[in-house]
Amino acid sequence: MEALRDAFSWNKGYKEYFAVKATPNPFLINILREYDCGCDCSSYTELMLSEAIGAKGPDIMFSSNDTPAEEFVYADKLGAIINLDDFTHIDFLEKTIGHIPETISCRYNPGGLFKISNDIMDNPGDSKYGMTTDQLFEAFKVLKQKGAKEFGIHAFLASNTVTNDYYPMLAKVLFEIAVKLQKETGVHIKFINLSGGIGIPYNPDQEPNDIRAIGDGVRRVYEEVLVPAGMGDLEIYTELGRYMMGPYGCLVTKAIHEKHTHKEYIGVDACAVNLMRPAMYGAYHHITVMGKEEAPCDHKYDVTGSLCENNDKFAIDRMLPEIEKGDLLVIHDTGAHGFSMGYNYNGKLKSAEILLKEDGSVQLIRRAETPADYFATFDCFDIGKKLTK
Ligand SMILES: *Cc1c(COP(=O)(O)O)cnc(C)c1O
Repeated sequence: MEALRDAFSWNKGYKEYFAVKATPNPFLINILREYDCGCDCSSYTELMLSEAIGAKGPDIMFSSNDTPAEEFVYADKLGAIINLDDFTHIDFLEKTIGHIPETISCRYNPGGLFKISNDIMDNPGDSKYGMTTDQLFEAFKVLKQKGAKEFGIHAFLASNTVTNDYYPMLAKVLFEIAVKLQKETGVHIKFINLSGGIGIPYNPDQEPNDIRAIGDGVRRVYEEVLVPAGMGDLEIYTELGRYMMGPYGCLVTKAIHEKHTHKEYIGVDACAVNLMRPAMYGAYHHITVMGKEEAPCDHKYDVTGSLCENNDKFAIDRMLPEIEKGDLLVIHDTGAHGFSMGYNYNGKLKSAEILLKEDGSVQLIRRAETPADYFATFDCFDIGKKLTK
C-alpha cells in the first residue's frame, strides 16, 4: 500500500479504492483504511460492508453493472460516487433516485482488441462493460444538462496484467478522450479511474510488476497529454484488488488421501469451494509442502478436492516433493479472488480466515461455516428448524 501511494504521490488527488469483491473481509479492509484507502463496491452487501467500517461519501466508488434499482438508492444514500456502466442507466438512475448526482462517472469501452505492441492483452469488444465512444460523449452532454458538475471516466480493459505498460497505455487512451470530452462538451473532468487489472506473478518464474515504474509511466502520459491541455488538476484513482491482497493470503490444506490409479493423486481437505480459480480458469497457483520447501520436486501429482466435478483440481501434473498423508500444503497467492469467489456446491462449507500478524500472532477474522449456516435459508420452514439447530 505504501509503495502504491508513493508511486502515485506525484498526483495530488490520487486515491486507491480497494475492490471489495477481491477480499470482502472487514478486518482486512480496515487495515487498508489506515492508509486512507477507499472502497470500490458493486453490490448491495459490498456497500453494507463499506458502511460498517465507516466508509461513506466519496470514500466509496460504486462501479456496478446491470445494477438493481435498490443498489443505486443505497449508493446514493451513502453519498458514494456512482460510476455508470451504460448510457441507459442515466435515465434509470434519475428515475430511481429522483435526481442526477453532482459528481458522476461513466465507464468507457473503446471496443476492439487492447494490445500492447503485438501482445493482445484482452478483448474489450467482447466485454459486457462500459459505453462506446459515441455513447460516452452523449452521456456527458446529457448528464451536464441534467445538472452534473464534476465528471469522472473509468475503464477496465485487461485483467491480471503482468507488465508495467498496461496502466500507462490505458491512461493514454483515457487522457486523450478526456481532453476531447472536456473540449467538446465543456464539462469539468475531475478524475480518471484506471480501475483494476494490475496483476501478480502467480507463477514464481514471472517477473513481478514494478509499481514505481507503473506510476512513473502514468505520470509521463499525464504530463504529455493532460498538462498541455490545461487539465493538470485531474485526479487519478485506482481500484486494485488482486495487486493489493493477492500475494498476502494463502490457502492451507491437509493431504488426507493418496490415490494411485491411471495417475497419482493427492486428495486434500479443501476443494474448489475454497478456491475456484484453478477449476474456473485453469489458473496456476503455486503449491509448496510445509517442512518440505527444500525437498526435491521429483513426484508428479494431481492435487484434488472432494467435489463431484473432475475440474476440482488445484494442480494437474505438478512436480512436488513426495507427499504423505497429514502433510500441509500451502496454496499460494489466494489473498484476492480466492475465498470471495467460493460457493457451496456439494454442500461443502467455507473455511475460516486467519490473520497472521507482524509479531507472529494470529487472529480469527472469520469463523468457518457450519451446517446451520448452509441451511439458514430454510429457517422459515419446519424442516429448517431441524437443520439449523
Ligand atoms: C474486479 C474489479 C476490480 C479489481 O480487479 P483486480 O483484478 O483485482 O485488480 C476493480 N474494479 C472493478 C469495477 C472490478 O469489477
